[in-house]
Amino acid sequence: MRKSLLIHYGELSTKGKNRENFVESLAKNIRHALKGRTFSLKRDYDHIRIYGDELEELLPLLLDVSGINRISLAYECGLDMDEMEQTALFAYKESGGTSFKVETSRPNKAFPLQSYEISKTIGGYLLSHAEGSKVDVHSPDVRIRTIVSRKRCDIYAKTFAGAGGYPLGSLGKAMMMLSGGIDSPVAAYLLLRRGIALECVHFAAPPYTSVEAVEKVTDLLKVLNRFEAKIRLHIVPFTALQLKIYEAAGDSYAITIMRRMMTRIAVGLARRQGCLAIATGESIGQVASQTLQSLNVINDVTSFPIIRPLAAYDKTATIEIAKKIGTYDISIRPHEDCCTIFTPRHPVTRPKMDDVLKIEKSFDYQSLVDECIEKAELRLIGGED
Ligand code: ATP
Ligand code: MG
Repeated sequence: MRKSLLIHYGELSTKGKNRENFVESLAKNIRHALKGRTFSLKRDYDHIRIYGDELEELLPLLLDVSGINRISLAYECGLDMDEMEQTALFAYKESGGTSFKVETSRPNKAFPLQSYEISKTIGGYLLSHAEGSKVDVHSPDVRIRTIVSRKRCDIYAKTFAGAGGYPLGSLGKAMMMLSGGIDSPVAAYLLLRRGIALECVHFAAPPYTSVEAVEKVTDLLKVLNRFEAKIRLHIVPFTALQLKIYEAAGDSYAITIMRRMMTRIAVGLARRQGCLAIATGESIGQVASQTLQSLNVINDVTSFPIIRPLAAYDKTATIEIAKKIGTYDISIRPHEDCCTIFTPRHPVTRPKMDDVLKIEKSFDYQSLVDECIEKAELRLIGGED
């Protein structure tokens, strides 16, 4: 009997001939998540198996790896009914439940017993060898799953939900607009968890924003390196454009125009870098620039997809995730970013398209936008392996 973490691919199974590549990326991402630990990894058609002495400690490190549907703490034994019964008894006792149901799948059609016969035989064995045990086919405490394949039998009673989604990078890449705030790192995490790889853009306005503000973003990305080993960060020198915006727009429209410019720049960078979308940490209704009317006006600058993973999240739920993934304490460091530094007292909550276009006509923003894209500084965060 050999213990393993049995990793079920889930959504991968629908992917036909891409499967090989997917399993390959998944194995690579699992290795990254378990970096520094002792383990061995084996792939077969339906599963990846992790062997090692500290599987219970490895398990939590895998729960956020995209492309994993479920992870079972499984026991492997030979294709022999006696061994299977004893292994099932062990898994059942370890689970701590009383009522059980045995469920069998039998990809190995050459095995002499049918699935239902295997379940019945193992069930009978458990009833006579585990005191107080009983069968409950509708809502058992424990489901004991038995997979009879060609070379071995896997039996497990404990299964944990994985992140789902697809292996990181297999869905393409997005350009994440990363401020130093609480929301955007959480939005980034949700995309990474789904399997979308990221490059990031940060708008810096020195000397109004400090070196520490950029360091904050770098530190946030180091946390996210847990999910993506190497992340490109584009730091946009935004000062010249931002000053022009405030001059042209005045108090009420400055934020709206600024967000339109940021969107143009992010889209420009995204196209140049081969990203298929841009992404933000915006949440509907949270602040003046995030009303549906504002989003409508901001979105108007491009037909490029803009993903807003937090659109319908409330702040409490976002903060909870930020704390869980370890970005919260960094995000609440007090350095101002370029949005807050000039924050007007009365931003419009229902900007009008006509007004916006009038303001934008009044100055030559395009050359400044182009310059921001050209002069963006590239840093690679992570990637020591
Ligand atoms: P966050 O907590 O992510 O800063 P927020 O609720 O403070 O979000 P805003 O400051 O209005 O909201 O910003 C909305 C979104 O715009 C951010 O989530 C982020 O995606 C993007 N953004 C804002 N400021 C910057 C910046 N300096 N650099 C890059 N992206 C930014
Ligand atoms: Mg912010």
